[in-house]
Amino acid sequence: MKHELTCIGCPKGCRMTATLDDGVVTSVNGQGCARGVTYARQECVDPRRMVTSLIPIPGHRRPLSVKTAEAIPKGSIASCLDAIHNARVQLPVRIGDVVLSNVAGTGIDVVATADYLQ
Ligand code: SF4
Repeated sequence: MKHELTCIGCPKGCRMTATLDDGVVTSVNGQGCARGVTYARQECVDPRRMVTSLIPIPGHRRPLSVKTAEAIPKGSIASCLDAIHNARVQLPVRIGDVVLSNVAGTGIDVVATADYLQ
């Protein structure tokens, strides 16, 4: 089975073709560098994305910006966003602080991307 995909590793956006046999990537073509091969192998068997979002802080105009500490499975993105939007945060928060642990059962935390002291 052939799988066409576009690498998101850099602005070049190489169009690649991965060949799968029984769910195993057997070859990748079209990549401009080795990162494309790594991306294609991951994308074909366990696609993941970083999630960034904002958490409103009651009584404050500016929301807290957050992101997942690592890319999470694409199938968990909606649950992750639900958890983020339902999160209640105690100030102060420092950049890198864990805002949600093990978000959506992924084993990955959501962390603050900026200080929010008051
Ligand atoms: S394969 Fe390499 S050169 Fe091509 S888009 Fe991905 S990172 Fe960029």
